[in-house]
Amino acid sequence: MRDRRGWALAVPTPRRRPDLPTPSLLVPFEDALAGAGDLMRALAGRDRVRLAVTGLSRAGKTVFLTSLVANLLAAGQGARTLPALEAAAGGRLRRVRLVPAETQATPRFDATGHLLALAADPPRWPARTDDLSTLELALELEPRTMLGQARAAFAGPRRVTLELLDYPGEWLLDLPMLGQSWPDWSRATLARLRRGKRAEAAAGFLGFVDALPAKAPAEEAIARQGFALYREALLTCRDRLGFRFLQPGRVLNPGPRGDAPLLWFFPLPHPEGGPLADLMARRHAAYLEDARAGFFDPFFRRFHRQAVLVDALGALHAGEEAFDDTAEALAAVSGSLRGGLGLLDLLTGQGVRRVGFAATKADHVPARARESLVGLLGDLVGRDPAGPLDAATSVHAIAAIRCTEDAVATLEGRPFAAVRGVLLDGGRSATVYAGEVPPRRPAPDFWEHAFFEMPVFQPPRLVGDGAAGIPHLGLDALLAALIGDLL
Ligand code: GDP
Repeated sequence: MRDRRGWALAVPTPRRRPDLPTPSLLVPFEDALAGAGDLMRALAGRDRVRLAVTGLSRAGKTVFLTSLVANLLAAGQGARTLPALEAAAGGRLRRVRLVPAETQATPRFDATGHLLALAADPPRWPARTDDLSTLELALELEPRTMLGQARAAFAGPRRVTLELLDYPGEWLLDLPMLGQSWPDWSRATLARLRRGKRAEAAAGFLGFVDALPAKAPAEEAIARQGFALYREALLTCRDRLGFRFLQPGRVLNPGPRGDAPLLWFFPLPHPEGGPLADLMARRHAAYLEDARAGFFDPFFRRFHRQAVLVDALGALHAGEEAFDDTAEALAAVSGSLRGGLGLLDLLTGQGVRRVGFAATKADHVPARARESLVGLLGDLVGRDPAGPLDAATSVHAIAAIRCTEDAVATLEGRPFAAVRGVLLDGGRSATVYAGEVPPRRPAPDFWEHAFFEMPVFQPPRLVGDGAAGIPHLGLDALLAALIGDLL
């Protein structure tokens, strides 16, 4: 474990536990340098806004980023594709362009390739992306102030560089782990795994750890078998049952650094005392240290704004247990991201940043249900619209690519608000009533009659290969909430 003095410099009243990994001593100085760089750039009319985008698996992150890039580029050409963002920028947006690649070590988000898929005949959804990637857009704006106008006269228009950071939602779920000790994590994770369908999926693993003696030896064969069974249980929970609250994230999504022994830990019924428990505790600590050094410090700490995408409709569709699991994952994540004394503050040592939570694929339901969807997501992330507002957190229902129009379906002679679009499978047009969206977290009896349909719609045919923008729902309002104040 590294020296902790650096942390004390960064955060005056740390609530850290002694068993948590700590950031490097250099981090506060690096942050100060980054902050000074940001200030210098702002003074020179060259601001940099770092927007991180993540989503719990299959939330629609690739589609979101592709649409965001296409619509911003189109807005820079004068198309009215993002009215709420334009309004937030006071109509001063003049030009948008992709910043060409330089010597970056991080993979680049392939917006052009994804747009080609959407522009194909028939249109295809872009292939999903798994890893961390980045992309920069340069936004040129008319200056806001007299001083800005004077500066623009000799230094050119104000330019805001929007740096997009795209990372897997699985890694976001490591964030709450940073606030837990090894025994706490172990107990909580095991308790979750023993519930409902998860227990069936993890039967092999649970049988294995329950049969271990309290002070099991740290034998390589035992540790390997335990981890293999744990990983298998996590993968089954994610891929077959649609669960999201699965940790640690790099086991499910190893990223560019691949597999390594520090990932090979698993929860134990007796997490304290005994050689195997000690080995697991050391790997757990090393994992968190590595997550901090490899991801949270270099990337996560430096972002200014965060979009968290959630397929809340898909979770409703997946049934009660998967829905509750998504709710739990979101509560853990939003608790860590929110302002006040959130873990994010402890990580960054800086004030509240803006976080936008968005329920994606909202074009599966008609207008009124989309309002319910906002209420439902707000409930899940603990943002009570009727209570005191947390200005740094906003909640949205969006469709990054709108594939449907609102319509009316007739079921057993009764009209229902529905949507109409082309189904990907078969390419025929259909009116779909997806089901009722509860305006808040549903009571248990909701599931007795729950019905939810989530067909895959074909993306719309793009005009001019997307150069004129891509139809969406609410993307502009989300962007306005996240970065509007900085333009
Ligand atoms: P990722 O795994 O989070 O990157 O998810 P993707 O962005 O690849 O999206 C997964 C799938 O969700 C896509 O292939 C689409 O079928 C669907 N999808 C994503 N966004 C939308 C949307 O705005 N509207 C509709 N109708 N479907 C969407």
